[in-house]
Amino acid sequence: MTRVRAHAPGRVNLIGDHTDYAGGLALPMAIDLGTSIIGTREGDRLRLHSEQFDTDTDLRVPLQDARIQPDWARYIAAVAVEMNCTTGFSGLIDSTLPIGAGLSSSASLELATALALGFEGTPLELALLGQRSEFTAVGVPCGLLDQLSSAFGSEGHALMIDFASITVEQIPLPPELEIIVVHSGVERTLAGSAYAERRAACETAISIVGELRSCSTDDLAAITDPVVRRRARHVVTECQRVTEARSALLGGDGIHFGELMNASHRSLRDDFEVSMPVVDALVERLRAVPGVHGARITGAGFGGCVVAACEPGAIADPAAITGRGWRVRASGPARVELLES
Ligand code: ADP
Ligand code: MG
Repeated sequence: MTRVRAHAPGRVNLIGDHTDYAGGLALPMAIDLGTSIIGTREGDRLRLHSEQFDTDTDLRVPLQDARIQPDWARYIAAVAVEMNCTTGFSGLIDSTLPIGAGLSSSASLELATALALGFEGTPLELALLGQRSEFTAVGVPCGLLDQLSSAFGSEGHALMIDFASITVEQIPLPPELEIIVVHSGVERTLAGSAYAERRAACETAISIVGELRSCSTDDLAAITDPVVRRRARHVVTECQRVTEARSALLGGDGIHFGELMNASHRSLRDDFEVSMPVVDALVERLRAVPGVHGARITGAGFGGCVVAACEPGAIADPAAITGRGWRVRASGPARVELLES
């Protein structure tokens, strides 16, 4: 019988959206909001209570099938199946993340679950396990952005992720750069089908012109379908912006970093078409605040959250803007501590 506390951070993507499944680049950071699981490894049942859903799951291990109720328990079951888990667990799930808002509560749940159940391996193996579990749980062929961000989080650092080589580079955040996240108030209901459509368009583009990150916008003329061409143009220009954003952070240039965030939002709005008028209006409102360098939609889109980079104190109370907002700090990786055994 071993008592443990596992914690996995959520993440905010500073720049580089819809590039992960296209072998591109992104620059997220793990944040000081996340999912914690506290409990005991014992017996042959997985008994967990979610504080946020106020429901329980009770499953016998080893599990054969991850398609169970309540819906959130599918993530737990999927992780247990992926780990071939044979020891049970009794405990509590608690989260400080908004759920379904694009700050990656699902990946943080997957990673916290794996660590609580006794996962042993590298951060990359942990992230890959989370990605497979997400697919098993909800059938979403997600990229690796969320899971890598949580597994590789580092205090005071953003993470430059190269999805072609699956490598993560820590980029120090300038101390005078503050990151604010504000919920648009729009829940991400259409995200599933539209996500699959965007992903398919990128795959079509790659089959015509090859890897998008090594293309220039001129190369995209070979794509005849104007919608596919615009989707590809977003990925190509977004990867260029991520590279430039990395340099801006390393040079301590928050103003240029903000300009790149603004350009990223325009590209996601016009070329990738994953924004919506309410989100655009929130982005404009944040940019109009003195001391805000830039703002953009973050995550898969279709609602959810907006991220802004600004001077310290420019936005005194992020929660006052729409009722749900946070000043976030770059946090350390998913981890587990043994309380007693
Ligand atoms: P996001 O990852 O952007 O927050 P998702 O739709 O990918 O949004 O994942 C949200 C789902 O993850 C929830 O509907 C729920 O099934 C699961 N989940 C996240 N946090 C918790 C929690 N604290 N307790 C139980 N389930 C959770
Ligand atoms: Mg998610």
